[in-house]
Parts: sequence; structure tokens; C-alpha cells
Amino acid sequence: MTSQTGTIVQNSLDALLEDDTFLPDLQDETREQAFTSLAAILSTPNQIHKSFLRIALEDGKVVRIPAFRVQHNNALGPYKGGIRFHESVNEEEVTNLASLMTLKNALHEVPFGGGKGGVVLNPRDYSVKELHLICEKYVHYFSDVIGPDKDIPAPDVGTGDREMDWMMAEYKSIKPGKPYRGSFTGKSVVNGGSLGRRKATGKGVYFTLRYMIHDFLNEQKNWLSTLDNPFAKTALSYANRPLTLSVQGFGNVGSIAALEAFECKHLNNKIVAVSDRNVTLYNEKGLDIPALIDFTEKNDGDLPTDDGQLTAANVSADILDREDVLYLDVDVLILAALEDQIHADNVEKVQAKMIVEGANAPITGEADQYLSNLGTIIVPDILANAGGVIVSYFEWLQGRETQFYSEDEVNKLLLKKMKGTMETILPQYFGDPFPLRQNCYIHAVMKLSTILFRQGKLY
Ligand code: GLU
Repeated sequence: MTSQTGTIVQNSLDALLEDDTFLPDLQDETREQAFTSLAAILSTPNQIHKSFLRIALEDGKVVRIPAFRVQHNNALGPYKGGIRFHESVNEEEVTNLASLMTLKNALHEVPFGGGKGGVVLNPRDYSVKELHLICEKYVHYFSDVIGPDKDIPAPDVGTGDREMDWMMAEYKSIKPGKPYRGSFTGKSVVNGGSLGRRKATGKGVYFTLRYMIHDFLNEQKNWLSTLDNPFAKTALSYANRPLTLSVQGFGNVGSIAALEAFECKHLNNKIVAVSDRNVTLYNEKGLDIPALIDFTEKNDGDLPTDDGQLTAANVSADILDREDVLYLDVDVLILAALEDQIHADNVEKVQAKMIVEGANAPITGEADQYLSNLGTIIVPDILANAGGVIVSYFEWLQGRETQFYSEDEVNKLLLKKMKGTMETILPQYFGDPFPLRQNCYIHAVMKLSTILFRQGKLY
């Protein structure tokens, strides 16, 4: 757990310790002890599995690639979380991401615990055959600790349905005769994946934003205007007008969140900037998102980087530095790239008064504090980007029932679940001065603590 996550978990526990109505069976010294146990349980993972994947590359060279699977907590159900392929992966990062999965699932009442995997590599450096081998080796090394009722991996940065299909096939061959369909989620639809899974995270990110600044805001405008709360004031400044959006990251999450915003025409919101690892594209009149998605699909995932490519994509935009997306004067900034994008050294340049975390942990603790003090609404990762794991849960259920839902059904269930969480959280958030992240953590920690208490794990 990073110090930021740890501090917020500890603050949540401190608030709950003072609240006599929470776990009233626990009193006096036992209560203090139980809360000390809770802090220990939540701040440390149950297991860290690590290994080196030994691979013979196509040129005959043999490499050893570090790989991890961290199982943070399974009080709510089997461990659950993606496998990241990225060159910056390390044990601490995977451990922190696993703890975020525990909190994310608890917040949205998804009956899974938290886990995460990672392999230290840049997928662009390997051939398809080599990546296939890496996926098989990963499963080979961790096959005893994963499985449909133990720990269920899914895609994350650098992985997708192709990798999940390869991994499930390997799991099936290593564990013949065992149920295997629920061993991985985020598989391709032909291989037992769920319709709607690929777009689920991006859809959920935009839905969270839309619900907050349109549905909730319109319904609660009168109540919000009675509050002396910086966040309520920020929200009210967004009422009844079209908004400008910029999106950092144009992968599976950012591009779909942008597309959802683009397609939601009646709200008149404009996506004025998108970025990827190379560039920021900017057009104050709004970018043609479907045309950009079309271009990236034909160009290895990359956005146009020069005027020739913009013409080929039939998109009109200015080309800016890739970091510029963070500093534009827009209403809403969606962060859908990697961790630690806004930090102490660049936070003062950020102008958006609302930030939605499509990626996990894109804002450091210091930057978060700074922005929250300014009344910036930060919609945290565990609230905004849970669409993926929610639909993973539907996929896991469909695999068990061997019955499949239509894309429309999946989307309805997804939005219902996310709306349910927001209906609980938002009134509480605007009603008190804590940032939204703290409110979400309190809710998740409350849920986990109650379960751990009922499971007799707090003595
Ligand atoms: N990697 C995604 C996340 O961070 C999805 C995890 C899952 O579906 O298990 O939430």
C-alpha cells in the first residue's frame, strides 16, 4: 500500500473508531484492539507471489522476466484483479494496485477480494509468439495460487482479451477436469467472455461523470446551494451548461470514455483534447473521436503525430506536447493513462476543477491534497474505474451459469450497480467537508470491517 492509500485507510479507521454506532458490539479495549488488527489487515497483503519467467526468444536468446501476483485480501470473495504488462511494473506498485482492488470491490459491493498481477516488460518489444509464451509461463508459475474460486485475473494495462484467452487455455491444460471458465475474465466473447466487457471501464468512467454533473446535480441543485462546502460550490458551477473535457490516455479506457462523451450529443459536451504516449491533440471546437479511434485501430494504437496523419485521419487539431493535456483550461480532466501523472511538481499547472480517475492512482497524495484544498472535485479510481471489474463479475457469473446476457443487459446491470454506489456516496460527500476519495474509502473500509468482524478475524 502506498503511503497515500495507507493514510486514507487509517483516517477511515480513525473516523469509524469514534463512531459508536459502527460495530457497537465492540467496546472499550476490545474495540481499540480490533481496530489495530483492522489496520494491520488492510495495510498488508495476504500473499506476494513472485517469479522469473524464463523464456527462449525467437532469436534463441533466453531471458528471465520478473513477474508478480499479489493477493491483498479475500474477505469478500476470491482475489480479483488484472495482470499488467509494463516496463515500470514492480512489487510495490503491484501490491498497491492489489489493495486498491480490495477497496474498489468493497465499495461497489462486488463479491471479490483484491489482487493484482504484473510482468516487467514492454509488450511492443516482443513478437506475438513470444507474448503467447510469456502468458503461458505466467500461468504455469502461478497456476496453484489462481483459479475460479481462488484468484481470478483479468486484463490491465498492456493486456487484453487475447492474453486472457491464452492464459485460460494454459490453465485448462494444466488443471484438466477442473472448472476453468471462471479462471480468467476479460476473455474474448467467442471464448466465454462477456459482451460489453471491453468497453466497461470506459463506459463506467463516463457514466460516473455524467451522473454526477448532470443527473445528481440537476436533482439536488436546491439542496447543494444550501451547503457551505467547496465541493458543492464547484459542482454548482457546472450546472446547466455544456462542458469541455480533456482525456489523458487513448487506450481502452480513455478512448471509450471519450467516445461515450462524444455520443452523448444532447448534453453538448465537447472533448477538446486527447493524448497518448506521443502527443496531445487539441481542438477548441471539439475533436472527432470516432475518426481518431478508427485511426488508432489501424496504427498500432497510436494517435496521429503530424499534419499528414491528421489529414489521413480526417481530423482537424493542433498537435501539442503529450503532457499539455493535463494543463488545459477545461472543465473536466479524465486521467486514463498510468499512476502518478499529477504530482507535487506539476499540480500547480492543472486548471480543471473536476478530475475523474479512469486510471488507478494517477494523482499522488501531495497533489491530491493540494487540489482538494482548492475545492477541485476528484472522482477517485475506486469509484470511477470499477466498470471493468463489475462486468468481470458478470462474466464470471455467466461462465458458472453457462448462460449469457445481451450487451444491452450487461450495460444496464453495470450502470445500475455504479448508480447504486453513487446514490449512497454522493449525498454523504457533499454533506461533509471530506474529499470524495475519503468518503469512498470510509464506505469500503466499513464494509470490509463488518465482514472481517463477522468472520471472527479481528481478535
Ligand atoms: N484491471 C481492471 C481494474 O483495475 C479490471 C480488473 C478485473 O476485471 O478484475 O479494475
